[in-house]
Amino acid sequence: LFVTVEGGDGAGKSTQSRLLEEWLVAQGRRVVRTREPGGTEVGMLVRDIVLHHRGEVAPRAEALLYAADRAHHVETVVRPALDRGDVVIQDRYLDSSVAYQGAGRVLGRQEVRDLSLWATEGLLPDLTVLLDLDPAAARVRLDADDKPFDRLESEKAAFHTRVRSEFLALAEAEPGRFLVVDAAQPVDDIAAQVRGRVTALLS
Ligand code: C5P
Repeated sequence: LFVTVEGGDGAGKSTQSRLLEEWLVAQGRRVVRTREPGGTEVGMLVRDIVLHHRGEVAPRAEALLYAADRAHHVETVVRPALDRGDVVIQDRYLDSSVAYQGAGRVLGRQEVRDLSLWATEGLLPDLTVLLDLDPAAARVRLDADDKPFDRLESEKAAFHTRVRSEFLALAEAEPGRFLVVDAAQPVDDIAAQVRGRVTALLS
């Protein structure tokens, strides 16, 4: 089972990924929890370029770097884990590229999706949890957690609004794959909704 967790910065993706992992492990499942960008050693190098040289990298180059990270990660981590029968829980996947590079950087939804599908040889998640949150609320949350905030501040509000709308449009286009959750709800309520959907998929 391949589960991806998507949403804007500060939506609670890593918290929900961790809670889902803990719950599945308690049920005796083998789980690989991973993330993009940076789920491998090579991926960490890509992460360093895209996050620390943001603004210097041309948008198309940025899209190719994310795709390169994804290709390597899928081949060396995700597919082997799925082949072993493990559950893979992944923080961000191709929908992040469609939302950030496709809509945020205006490179086009279909082009970015096709690039990703080429990079991953067409691997799509069984379930994508979209943690939907208003970018202004995310900003308040990141501030309260004392998380590095420049990520959001370095990008205009309009960018984050485009990213959010694109995530929602993707979910609407593939309702079977997506579970959209209002990320403003309490952490445990969100986790329960995610567990409900995963239980249905595992049974
Ligand atoms: O969620 P995480 O901390 O891994 O995200 C790192 C940053 O990379 C985020 O600020 C997000 O805006 C950006 N990102 C992106 N395009 C992607 C994936 C992440 O711009 N495809």
